Formats: sequence, structure tokens, C-alpha cells
Amino acid sequence: MADKHPISLTQCTTPNDSSELGGLENTENTWINLAKRASGLYIHIPFCFHKCHYCDFFSIANADHEHKRFTEALVNELQAVGPHLEAIDSIFVGGGTPTLLEYSLLERVLSTIKNVVPMTSLVEWTVEANPETVSESKAKLLAASGVNRVSLGAQSFHPNLLKELERWHDPENVLRSVSLLREAGIGNINLDLIYAIPTQTMKMLEVDVEQLINIQPEHLSCYALTYEPNTPLLTKLRKGEVERATHELEAEMFGYVIDTLRSAGYRQYEISNFAREGFECKHNVMYWENRSWWACGPSASGHIKGLRWRNVPRLRDYFKQNPLPPVLDVEQLSLDRQMGEVCMLGLRLNRGMPRDTVERVIQQSNDHWREDVIQKYLNEGLLAWVNDSLALTKKGRAIADMVIGDLLMQDA
Ligand code: SF4
Repeated sequence: MADKHPISLTQCTTPNDSSELGGLENTENTWINLAKRASGLYIHIPFCFHKCHYCDFFSIANADHEHKRFTEALVNELQAVGPHLEAIDSIFVGGGTPTLLEYSLLERVLSTIKNVVPMTSLVEWTVEANPETVSESKAKLLAASGVNRVSLGAQSFHPNLLKELERWHDPENVLRSVSLLREAGIGNINLDLIYAIPTQTMKMLEVDVEQLINIQPEHLSCYALTYEPNTPLLTKLRKGEVERATHELEAEMFGYVIDTLRSAGYRQYEISNFAREGFECKHNVMYWENRSWWACGPSASGHIKGLRWRNVPRLRDYFKQNPLPPVLDVEQLSLDRQMGEVCMLGLRLNRGMPRDTVERVIQQSNDHWREDVIQKYLNEGLLAWVNDSLALTKKGRAIADMVIGDLLMQDA
């Protein structure tokens, strides 16, 4: 383990009111003790080549002049907190597009992670990449640094659909990137697919899924295009400039993705995620199991045992480190709300929630109110007990948002 770094976390928290920290004193020791409980580490690199119009992540295009200063700030943050992260199982470097950083800056980030974060229990280290940013040297750098999983945004193999998404990579670059990553020794690759894109037909989806399977990634994340608030895509939809896929077509596409990937040897283990045996994303499973993680980088959100917070998003504010950045939205969830999140996340997993977790959820819900909701959905065949776990049925998965929404919070 790396040497302890003397840190002052006085600027780490904005609240002076300790109630926002669940009654804990807002001191350096409090935050260090929280960091010690994290089992995952998320690091946000907020730069992109272009801002895709459907994207609601915090990402900035055309800011190459900020990359160097950002890298130094992130390194400071990692050096301050990294040594206190004692039991990290997984690291996820996401964005944005982490591989947009030039080689020397990417190397600085990765070597800092390697040097300051204790690696003894680490099993998975993922870096997100876009196909156009993977070069031979960067692929080798990732592998040599200890990264063992790369997540690539393929999205579609149809240039006109990529254009609909405002993604500008050449589909050929997906194949090129995967082969560079394979040659470098990366044995676990995820490809992202988006479906229900305006103008997309079933035939086009079939071609996309076939191409993905031919590449033989270990993992696939397949999401229907969503129209998020405050995105240019939603504005275009409202102005009638794009036509949204119908619910029927979206459901048909989802069913096709599930059936075809199953036949090709990919197990659906979460509503939108599919993997070959043993290649489920451990970092994302950590989120769905509602475990604790620390977050570095602007706008990154952390969660430790019901306490949530978010680093400031604006780079100008993020650079005001001491040595950690100021945080926003610190919130200690009530026990009832925590149980709602356990349901919201746990039911996304196909294996569902173990019986002892369900019993805890019921016990810790106000007046045990979730017991009646669970029973109602068991009676309606939307939930079922499978291998002593409570899971959505196939019928329930089709309307997962409604079932999960009803378990998240009690009606006012
Ligand atoms: S590349 Fe990804 S993170 Fe960047 S703008 Fe597009 S969708 Fe958002």
C-alpha cells in the first residue's frame, strides 16, 4: 500500500450543518473514514471530441487547452485520497472520453492511480474509450498500466445512424480499436450499442447486433436511446425535427436483442447488460448492489453507506482544490429511502435480491409498507421468487420502471 498522504479535507465539504452528514462531524477524519469504506473508485475525465446531442453527462468539447491543468488537478485529488481507499475491488475511469487525453497526460493519470491506490484487492480496472481515440501506443499503455477491461462506444455500424446520434467515428474504427486492444493484451472488452434511434428499422438493428457478435466482445451494454431533459435531442424532438421510435418498435427491438444475444452465448444479467460467463462488470454490479464507492473528478458522484455527494462540475470550481475539490448535493438518505434504492438497483439485476436483503428492506421500510407492494406484484406475476431471490419476471422486466418506481418511494 502507498504511503499515507497528509491531507486536509477542509474544502472537501460544503455543508457546515452536520445533519447533512448524517450527524457526523464535518472533519477530515470523518471523510477519511468514509473513504476507507469504499469498495469501488470512479474517476471522471470530462473531455470529449464533440458533444453528442443526446448526452446528459458532464462533458466538455473543444477544451484541449484545459487538459494539462485538469490532469494535474486530478493527480492532486488522487494523491490526496488514493492511499485512504483501503479495499478497492474495482476502478472505473469514465467520462467523457478518457482516451482523448494525449499519451503523456493519460500516462500521468494511469501511473498515479497505480501508485497511490492500494491494488491488493483490485479485480477489475476499466477505462472507457471511443473508437477514434484508441491508438496502438494508448492500447499498450492501458494494458501496461494494469487496466484489464476497456469499454468502447460502438453504438451502431450504420454511418447514417451514427450521424443521427451525432457520433462521428467511422464504424471500421470499432474493429480496428478492438484488434489493437486485443494485441495489447486486453482480455475483457465491452461494446456499447444504442437502439431505437430515429430512422432505425428492425433490419438495421439486426445488422448492428450481428456485427457486434462477430467482434466477440466479452460484454455488451445495449440501451434504447433516451431523450434526457436539457439535451439538444429533446429540443429537436419537441420541435418535430426527429421522430422517436414507437414504444412497440422499441419493445420489439429490446426483445430481439435479448433473444439474439442469448443464442450467441451472452447472458442478460441486468436489464441492459449482457456478458459471457464470468465477465459481468464488477464495478457496475457494485452500483446495483448499492455498495460504497469514492468518486474523483469534476461532477463525479460518490456514495458511502447512504451518504451521497457530488464533486463540483465546473472546471473553474473543480480547480479550487485543497487538495480535494468542493462538493455539492451532500445528502444523507433516510433509512426508508435507502431501502428504496436497494430495490431500485437490486431489481435491475436478473438474479434479483436475496431473501435476506428483501427481509431487511421490509423491516427497515416505514411501517413495513413495501411488503404489500411486493406481495401485490408477486400476485400479478411481475415479481417472482427464483433461487431464493426476488426478481422481476419477463413480464415485469417489460415494465420495470413502473414496478421499481412503486418500490422506490411511498406515495405522498
Ligand atoms: S462521447 Fe459519450 S460522454 Fe462524450 S458527449 Fe458523446 S455520449 Fe457524451
